[in-house]
Amino acid sequence: MLARFRSHSQCLRFCRMFEFGKQSEKNLLGVHPDLVSLCRRALEITNVDFGILCGLRTPEEQADLVRKGASKTYNSRHLTGHAIDFGVYVEGKYINGDTPGEYRLYELVADAFAVASLELKTPIVWGGEWKHFKDGGHIELSRRKYPA
Ligand SMILES: [Zn+2]
Repeated sequence: MLARFRSHSQCLRFCRMFEFGKQSEKNLLGVHPDLVSLCRRALEITNVDFGILCGLRTPEEQADLVRKGASKTYNSRHLTGHAIDFGVYVEGKYINGDTPGEYRLYELVADAFAVASLELKTPIVWGGEWKHFKDGGHIELSRRKYPA
């Protein structure tokens, strides 16, 4: 919160900053604390609203996603709390990023994560950089600094 505001909500209104909703907070449970801090900092930086769609997954949930073609690996960083998926919201409405214009918003959120990553010295990998299975809403902690 900036010092010139009397309350956090007044600051939020003025700055048009965003807050995680109940579901995002729930989805952050069990996620590595460094990644949670990163998500919170990225939300402070971003001009594009986003929520946390998924954090920690059970092996059963992961296997289900592979069966549905939504994931390519049984060795996902979601299983260890080292990954999150974010979703973009425009005026409170979920945007899946399927069109180039919508995907641009995912890139902007990823930029906010990149800035937060440098600030907090928490190296990450963005799924949007993957060649074979581009995943614009996926952020994971670098395996070099954070082996499972
Ligand atoms: Zn993911």
